[in-house]
Amino acid sequence: MMALQLPPNFTDRVRHNEPLASYTSWRVGGPAEVFFKPQDAKELAAFLQSLEPGTPIHWIGLGSNLLVRDGGIRGVVIATLGAFNELKRLEGNELWTGSGVTCAKLAKQCVKWGLGSGEFFAGIPGTMGGALAMNAGAFGGETWNHVIEVETIDRRGAIRLRPAGDYRVAYRHVDGPSDEWFLGARLRFEPRPNADETPIKLLLARRKATQPIGELSCGSVFTNPPGDHAARLIESAGLKGFHIGGARVSDKHANFIINDGTATADELERVIEHVRATVQRVHGVALTPEVRIVGERK
Ligand SMILES: Cc1cc2nc3c(=O)[nH]c(=O)nc-3n(C[C@H](O)[C@H](O)[C@H](O)COP(=O)(O)OP(=O)(O)OC[C@H]3O[C@@H](n4cnc5c(N)ncnc54)[C@H](O)[C@@H]3O)c2cc1C
Repeated sequence: MMALQLPPNFTDRVRHNEPLASYTSWRVGGPAEVFFKPQDAKELAAFLQSLEPGTPIHWIGLGSNLLVRDGGIRGVVIATLGAFNELKRLEGNELWTGSGVTCAKLAKQCVKWGLGSGEFFAGIPGTMGGALAMNAGAFGGETWNHVIEVETIDRRGAIRLRPAGDYRVAYRHVDGPSDEWFLGARLRFEPRPNADETPIKLLLARRKATQPIGELSCGSVFTNPPGDHAARLIESAGLKGFHIGGARVSDKHANFIINDGTATADELERVIEHVRATVQRVHGVALTPEVRIVGERK
Protein backbone atom coordinates (compact mmCIF):
# COMPACT_ATOMS: atom_id res chain seq x y z
CA MET A 1 0.00 0.00 0.00
CA MET A 2 1.18 3.57 -0.82
CA ALA A 3 2.31 5.69 2.13
CA LEU A 4 -0.23 8.32 3.15
CA GLN A 5 0.48 11.75 1.69
CA LEU A 6 0.10 14.60 4.18
CA PRO A 7 0.54 18.32 3.44
CA PRO A 8 3.77 19.91 4.80
CA ASN A 9 2.00 21.84 7.60
CA PHE A 10 1.03 18.53 9.24
CA THR A 11 4.28 16.60 8.84
CA ASP A 12 5.54 17.73 12.27
CA ARG A 13 2.15 17.30 13.91
CA VAL A 14 1.69 13.60 13.24
CA ARG A 15 3.60 10.49 14.26
CA HIS A 16 4.28 7.75 11.75
CA ASN A 17 4.18 4.09 12.79
CA GLU A 18 3.22 5.02 16.35
CA PRO A 19 2.93 1.84 18.48
CA LEU A 20 -0.63 1.68 19.80
CA ALA A 21 -0.22 -0.85 22.61
CA SER A 22 0.33 1.85 25.23
CA TYR A 23 -2.88 3.60 24.12
CA THR A 24 -5.08 0.60 24.88
CA SER A 25 -6.02 -1.01 28.18
CA TRP A 26 -5.07 -4.48 26.88
CA ARG A 27 -1.61 -3.10 26.09
CA VAL A 28 -1.35 -4.98 22.79
CA GLY A 29 -1.47 -4.07 19.13
CA GLY A 30 0.72 -2.86 16.29
CA PRO A 31 1.38 0.68 15.10
CA ALA A 32 -0.85 3.34 13.57
CA GLU A 33 0.36 4.29 10.09
CA VAL A 34 -0.35 7.94 11.00
CA PHE A 35 -1.24 9.03 14.54
CA PHE A 36 -2.70 12.49 15.13
CA LYS A 37 -3.66 14.16 18.39
CA PRO A 38 -5.44 17.39 17.40
CA GLN A 39 -5.20 20.51 19.55
CA ASP A 40 -8.77 21.50 18.86
CA ALA A 41 -11.66 21.12 16.42
CA LYS A 42 -10.27 23.75 14.06
CA GLU A 43 -6.95 21.96 13.65
CA LEU A 44 -8.75 18.63 13.30
CA ALA A 45 -11.04 20.05 10.59
CA ALA A 46 -8.01 21.31 8.62
CA PHE A 47 -6.30 17.93 9.03
CA LEU A 48 -9.34 15.98 7.82
CA GLN A 49 -9.73 18.33 4.83
CA SER A 50 -6.12 17.61 3.87
CA LEU A 51 -6.60 13.84 3.63
CA GLU A 52 -7.07 12.02 0.34
CA PRO A 53 -10.71 10.93 -0.06
CA GLY A 54 -11.11 7.36 1.11
CA THR A 55 -8.23 7.46 3.63
CA PRO A 56 -9.18 5.04 6.43
CA ILE A 57 -9.91 7.01 9.62
CA HIS A 58 -10.07 5.46 13.12
CA TRP A 59 -10.77 7.18 16.42
CA ILE A 60 -9.36 6.26 19.77
CA GLY A 61 -10.26 7.55 23.21
CA LEU A 62 -8.75 5.66 26.13
CA GLY A 63 -8.61 2.41 24.17
CA SER A 64 -10.52 0.58 26.89
CA ASN A 65 -12.77 -1.23 24.45
CA LEU A 66 -10.35 -1.79 21.59
CA LEU A 67 -8.39 -4.81 20.40
CA VAL A 68 -5.82 -3.48 17.94
CA ARG A 69 -4.39 -6.36 15.93
CA ASP A 70 -0.64 -6.99 15.88
CA GLY A 71 -0.19 -5.69 12.32
CA GLY A 72 -1.47 -2.25 13.37
CA ILE A 73 -3.88 0.17 11.71
CA ARG A 74 -3.64 1.45 8.15
CA GLY A 75 -4.62 5.06 7.57
CA VAL A 76 -4.93 7.64 10.32
CA VAL A 77 -5.76 7.28 13.99
CA ILE A 78 -7.24 10.36 15.67
CA ALA A 79 -6.64 10.43 19.44
CA THR A 80 -9.02 12.54 21.52
CA LEU A 81 -7.55 12.21 25.01
CA GLY A 82 -6.04 15.54 26.03
CA ALA A 83 -8.07 17.36 23.36
CA PHE A 84 -11.78 18.19 23.47
CA ASN A 85 -11.65 18.34 27.26
CA GLU A 86 -14.14 21.12 27.88
CA LEU A 87 -16.59 20.38 30.69
CA LYS A 88 -19.02 23.12 31.63
CA ARG A 89 -22.30 23.53 33.47
CA LEU A 90 -25.24 24.75 31.41
CA GLU A 91 -28.64 26.01 32.53
CA GLY A 92 -31.17 23.69 34.11
CA ASN A 93 -29.68 20.29 34.87
CA GLU A 94 -27.54 20.21 31.79
CA LEU A 95 -23.84 20.18 31.02
CA TRP A 96 -21.56 20.22 28.00
CA THR A 97 -18.79 17.66 27.75
CA GLY A 98 -16.04 17.37 25.18
CA SER A 99 -15.41 13.88 23.82
CA GLY A 100 -11.93 13.71 25.42
CA VAL A 101 -13.27 14.15 28.97
CA THR A 102 -12.94 10.95 30.98
CA CYS A 103 -16.11 9.28 32.26
CA ALA A 104 -14.61 9.30 35.78
CA LYS A 105 -14.12 13.07 35.68
CA LEU A 106 -17.65 13.63 34.44
CA ALA A 107 -19.10 11.48 37.24
CA LYS A 108 -17.27 13.46 39.93
CA GLN A 109 -18.09 16.82 38.38
CA CYS A 110 -21.80 15.92 38.30
CA VAL A 111 -21.65 15.41 42.07
CA LYS A 112 -19.90 18.77 42.56
CA TRP A 113 -22.57 20.48 40.47
CA GLY A 114 -25.43 18.84 42.39
CA LEU A 115 -26.45 16.63 39.49
CA GLY A 116 -27.61 13.07 40.11
CA SER A 117 -27.74 9.79 38.13
CA GLY A 118 -24.32 10.22 36.51
CA GLU A 119 -22.60 8.07 39.16
CA PHE A 120 -22.50 5.01 36.88
CA PHE A 121 -19.91 6.75 34.70
CA ALA A 122 -17.38 6.60 37.56
CA GLY A 123 -16.12 3.06 36.94
CA ILE A 124 -16.05 3.20 33.14
CA PRO A 125 -12.37 3.73 32.26
CA GLY A 126 -12.98 5.50 28.94
CA THR A 127 -13.60 8.91 27.41
CA MET A 128 -16.99 10.45 26.78
CA GLY A 129 -16.37 10.01 23.02
CA GLY A 130 -16.03 6.27 23.57
CA ALA A 131 -19.08 6.29 25.85
CA LEU A 132 -21.13 8.00 23.13
CA ALA A 133 -19.90 5.57 20.46
CA MET A 134 -20.61 2.50 22.64
CA ASN A 135 -23.63 3.70 24.62
CA ALA A 136 -21.53 2.75 27.62
CA GLY A 137 -23.47 1.89 30.74
CA ALA A 138 -23.35 0.23 34.13
CA PHE A 139 -25.56 -0.46 37.13
CA GLY A 140 -28.71 0.48 35.20
CA GLY A 141 -27.35 3.76 33.78
CA GLU A 142 -26.72 4.33 30.07
CA THR A 143 -24.94 7.19 28.29
CA TRP A 144 -27.66 7.92 25.76
CA ASN A 145 -30.38 8.22 28.43
CA HIS A 146 -28.73 11.60 29.08
CA VAL A 147 -27.92 12.87 25.59
CA ILE A 148 -29.84 15.86 24.24
CA GLU A 149 -27.56 16.67 21.34
CA VAL A 150 -24.09 15.87 20.07
CA GLU A 151 -21.48 17.84 18.18
CA THR A 152 -19.90 15.87 15.34
CA ILE A 153 -17.24 16.25 12.69
CA ASP A 154 -17.23 14.41 9.37
CA ARG A 155 -14.40 13.30 7.11
CA ARG A 156 -14.47 16.60 5.23
CA GLY A 157 -14.07 18.50 8.50
CA ALA A 158 -17.67 19.78 8.63
CA ILE A 159 -18.89 20.31 12.19
CA ARG A 160 -22.57 20.03 13.11
CA LEU A 161 -24.93 19.75 16.04
CA ARG A 162 -27.29 16.80 15.88
CA PRO A 163 -30.24 16.01 18.15
CA ALA A 164 -30.19 12.64 19.94
CA GLY A 165 -33.09 11.61 17.69
CA ASP A 166 -30.70 11.35 14.72
CA TYR A 167 -29.29 8.17 16.32
CA ARG A 168 -30.76 4.70 16.78
CA VAL A 169 -29.58 3.61 20.17
CA ALA A 170 -29.76 0.23 21.91
CA TYR A 171 -27.84 -1.71 24.56
CA ARG A 172 -24.12 -1.05 23.78
CA HIS A 173 -25.10 -0.04 20.27
CA VAL A 174 -25.32 3.33 18.52
CA ASP A 175 -26.22 3.73 14.89
CA GLY A 176 -25.86 7.16 13.31
CA PRO A 177 -24.59 8.97 10.21
CA SER A 178 -21.54 7.17 8.80
CA ASP A 179 -18.09 8.77 8.71
CA GLU A 180 -19.03 11.19 11.49
CA TRP A 181 -17.44 11.25 14.94
CA PHE A 182 -18.21 12.90 18.28
CA LEU A 183 -16.56 16.12 19.43
CA GLY A 184 -18.85 16.66 22.40
CA ALA A 185 -22.37 16.37 23.78
CA ARG A 186 -25.01 18.21 25.77
CA LEU A 187 -26.24 15.95 28.55
CA ARG A 188 -29.08 16.23 31.05
CA PHE A 189 -29.10 14.81 34.58
CA GLU A 190 -31.41 14.95 37.61
CA PRO A 191 -31.21 17.70 40.17
CA ARG A 192 -29.57 16.43 43.38
CA PRO A 193 -28.45 19.43 45.43
CA ASN A 194 -27.05 17.40 48.36
CA ALA A 195 -25.15 14.89 46.23
CA ASP A 196 -21.90 13.50 47.62
CA GLU A 197 -19.41 10.90 46.42
CA THR A 198 -20.71 8.06 48.62
CA PRO A 199 -22.68 6.34 45.80
CA ILE A 200 -19.60 6.54 43.54
CA LYS A 201 -17.42 4.93 46.21
CA LEU A 202 -19.98 2.15 46.68
CA LEU A 203 -20.15 1.44 42.95
CA LEU A 204 -16.36 1.35 42.67
CA ALA A 205 -16.16 -1.03 45.64
CA ARG A 206 -18.75 -3.30 44.00
CA ARG A 207 -16.64 -3.41 40.84
CA LYS A 208 -13.49 -4.19 42.78
CA ALA A 209 -15.21 -7.10 44.49
CA THR A 210 -16.49 -8.69 41.28
CA GLN A 211 -14.08 -7.65 38.49
CA PRO A 212 -10.33 -8.18 37.99
CA ILE A 213 -9.59 -4.45 38.32
CA GLY A 214 -5.88 -3.69 38.04
CA GLU A 215 -5.22 -6.46 35.50
CA LEU A 216 -4.90 -5.74 31.78
CA SER A 217 -8.34 -6.14 30.23
CA CYS A 218 -10.96 -4.47 28.10
CA GLY A 219 -13.79 -4.99 30.59
CA SER A 220 -16.58 -7.24 29.37
CA VAL A 221 -15.59 -8.86 26.09
CA PHE A 222 -19.11 -9.90 25.03
CA THR A 223 -22.46 -8.17 25.40
CA ASN A 224 -25.04 -9.95 27.53
CA PRO A 225 -27.55 -11.87 25.40
CA PRO A 226 -31.21 -11.03 26.11
CA GLY A 227 -32.27 -12.37 29.50
CA ASP A 228 -28.89 -13.88 30.38
CA HIS A 229 -25.31 -13.00 31.27
CA ALA A 230 -22.34 -13.71 29.04
CA ALA A 231 -20.22 -14.37 32.16
CA ARG A 232 -22.63 -17.08 33.38
CA LEU A 233 -22.64 -18.81 29.98
CA ILE A 234 -18.83 -18.69 29.71
CA GLU A 235 -18.28 -19.95 33.27
CA SER A 236 -20.78 -22.80 32.95
CA ALA A 237 -19.11 -23.86 29.70
CA GLY A 238 -16.03 -24.53 31.85
CA LEU A 239 -13.95 -21.77 30.32
CA LYS A 240 -12.66 -19.93 33.41
CA GLY A 241 -8.88 -20.09 33.31
CA PHE A 242 -8.77 -21.18 29.64
CA HIS A 243 -5.70 -19.60 28.06
CA ILE A 244 -3.67 -19.32 24.91
CA GLY A 245 -0.17 -17.95 25.54
CA GLY A 246 -0.55 -14.89 27.78
CA ALA A 247 -4.29 -14.41 27.13
CA ARG A 248 -6.60 -16.00 29.72
CA VAL A 249 -10.27 -16.04 30.72
CA SER A 250 -10.39 -14.40 34.15
CA ASP A 251 -11.03 -16.61 37.19
CA LYS A 252 -12.79 -13.71 38.87
CA HIS A 253 -15.19 -12.66 36.09
CA ALA A 254 -15.56 -15.01 33.13
CA ASN A 255 -16.49 -12.24 30.67
CA PHE A 256 -13.07 -10.60 31.19
CA ILE A 257 -10.07 -11.80 29.22
CA ILE A 258 -6.76 -10.89 30.82
CA ASN A 259 -3.40 -10.16 29.27
CA ASP A 260 -0.81 -11.44 31.76
CA GLY A 261 1.65 -8.94 30.27
CA THR A 262 3.00 -11.25 27.58
CA ALA A 263 -0.07 -11.73 25.35
CA THR A 264 -0.26 -10.72 21.71
CA ALA A 265 -3.42 -9.37 20.11
CA ASP A 266 -3.57 -12.60 18.12
CA GLU A 267 -3.65 -14.69 21.32
CA LEU A 268 -6.43 -12.50 22.76
CA GLU A 269 -8.42 -12.81 19.56
CA ARG A 270 -7.98 -16.59 19.52
CA VAL A 271 -9.26 -16.82 23.10
CA ILE A 272 -12.26 -14.64 22.12
CA GLU A 273 -12.95 -16.93 19.18
CA HIS A 274 -12.58 -20.10 21.29
CA VAL A 275 -14.97 -18.73 23.95
CA ARG A 276 -17.51 -17.74 21.29
CA ALA A 277 -17.36 -21.15 19.56
CA THR A 278 -17.51 -23.10 22.85
CA VAL A 279 -20.52 -21.17 24.20
CA GLN A 280 -22.24 -21.69 20.85
CA ARG A 281 -21.56 -25.43 20.99
CA VAL A 282 -22.43 -25.94 24.69
CA HIS A 283 -25.35 -23.54 25.09
CA GLY A 284 -26.46 -22.82 21.51
CA VAL A 285 -26.05 -19.09 22.16
CA ALA A 286 -24.13 -16.86 19.74
CA LEU A 287 -22.25 -14.30 21.84
CA THR A 288 -21.58 -10.91 20.26
CA PRO A 289 -18.26 -9.19 21.03
CA GLU A 290 -18.62 -5.85 22.77
CA VAL A 291 -14.95 -5.01 22.17
CA ARG A 292 -14.09 -3.49 18.83
CA ILE A 293 -11.48 -5.46 16.93
CA VAL A 294 -9.54 -3.27 14.49
CA GLY A 295 -6.47 -3.36 12.28
CA GLU A 296 -4.47 -5.94 10.38
CA ARG A 297 -3.22 -9.36 11.36
CA LYS A 298 0.56 -9.71 11.31
C1 LIG B 1 -11.89 -2.57 33.64
C2 LIG B 1 -12.92 -2.12 32.61
C3 LIG B 1 -14.23 -1.97 32.98
C4 LIG B 1 -15.19 -1.56 32.04
N1 LIG B 1 -16.47 -1.40 32.45
C5 LIG B 1 -17.41 -0.99 31.57
C6 LIG B 1 -18.77 -0.80 31.96
O1 LIG B 1 -19.13 -0.96 33.13
N2 LIG B 1 -19.66 -0.39 31.03
C7 LIG B 1 -19.30 -0.17 29.74
O2 LIG B 1 -20.16 0.21 28.93
N3 LIG B 1 -18.03 -0.35 29.33
C8 LIG B 1 -17.07 -0.74 30.20
N4 LIG B 1 -15.78 -0.92 29.78
C9 LIG B 1 -15.45 -0.75 28.36
C10 LIG B 1 -15.02 0.67 27.97
O3 LIG B 1 -14.47 1.36 29.08
C11 LIG B 1 -16.18 1.48 27.38
O4 LIG B 1 -16.68 0.87 26.21
C12 LIG B 1 -15.78 2.92 27.05
O5 LIG B 1 -16.94 3.64 26.69
C13 LIG B 1 -14.76 3.02 25.91
O6 LIG B 1 -14.28 4.36 25.88
P1 LIG B 1 -12.85 4.68 25.26
O7 LIG B 1 -12.63 6.13 25.31
O8 LIG B 1 -11.81 3.85 25.94
O9 LIG B 1 -13.08 4.18 23.78
P2 LIG B 1 -12.05 3.39 22.84
O10 LIG B 1 -11.83 2.03 23.39
O11 LIG B 1 -10.87 4.22 22.58
O12 LIG B 1 -12.96 3.26 21.53
C14 LIG B 1 -14.13 2.46 21.55
C15 LIG B 1 -14.92 2.72 20.27
O13 LIG B 1 -15.38 4.06 20.28
C16 LIG B 1 -14.93 4.76 19.14
N5 LIG B 1 -14.69 6.15 19.53
C17 LIG B 1 -13.86 6.62 20.50
N6 LIG B 1 -13.94 7.96 20.57
C18 LIG B 1 -14.85 8.34 19.64
C19 LIG B 1 -15.37 9.60 19.22
N7 LIG B 1 -14.98 10.74 19.80
N8 LIG B 1 -16.28 9.62 18.22
C20 LIG B 1 -16.70 8.48 17.63
N9 LIG B 1 -16.23 7.27 17.96
C21 LIG B 1 -15.31 7.20 18.96
C22 LIG B 1 -13.64 4.06 18.72
O14 LIG B 1 -13.36 4.26 17.36
C23 LIG B 1 -14.03 2.61 19.02
O15 LIG B 1 -14.80 2.07 17.97
C24 LIG B 1 -14.82 -1.32 30.71
C25 LIG B 1 -13.46 -1.46 30.33
C26 LIG B 1 -12.51 -1.85 31.27
C27 LIG B 1 -11.07 -1.96 30.85
